Amino acid sequence: MPIDATQPYDENNIFARILRDEIPSRKVYEDEHAMAFHDINPLAPTHILVIPKGPYVSWDDFSATASDGEIAGLVRAVGKIARDAGLVESGYRLLANTGPNSGQEVPHLHVHVFGGRPLGPMLAR
Ligand code: AMP
Repeated sequence: MPIDATQPYDENNIFARILRDEIPSRKVYEDEHAMAFHDINPLAPTHILVIPKGPYVSWDDFSATASDGEIAGLVRAVGKIARDAGLVESGYRLLANTGPNSGQEVPHLHVHVFGGRPLGPMLAR
């Protein structure tokens, strides 16, 4: 069920629980501002989710209210994770679903990193 990206942050969403280590994840990266883990239902050979550690519902919330340090931290983490996954030469795609039309399901900002095969057209027509 897609979420409303303007809703208040839900401290018990599944990614908040992953951040608190209450449920397991296949973690690939962690630093002061960001964490990354493999998507549980991968849509490409590499499908990693990168999340900020702070309580942000969506890209809209994060871009409007996060500190410059948190924003730089997330952006640099995404780049490093893609480099470390060996995706730079072959290429990769980033996706951050935001709100109902996007189909965002988890109400904690996450950037999908897809790679490992040609990813096809940007959107279904
Ligand atoms: P979105 O539709 O952009 O909100 O994407 C949510 C993503 O979270 C989907 O690709 C799910 O497969 C993924 N997901 C949901 N629960 C988990 C989990 N426990 N661990 C890893 N990925 C998850």
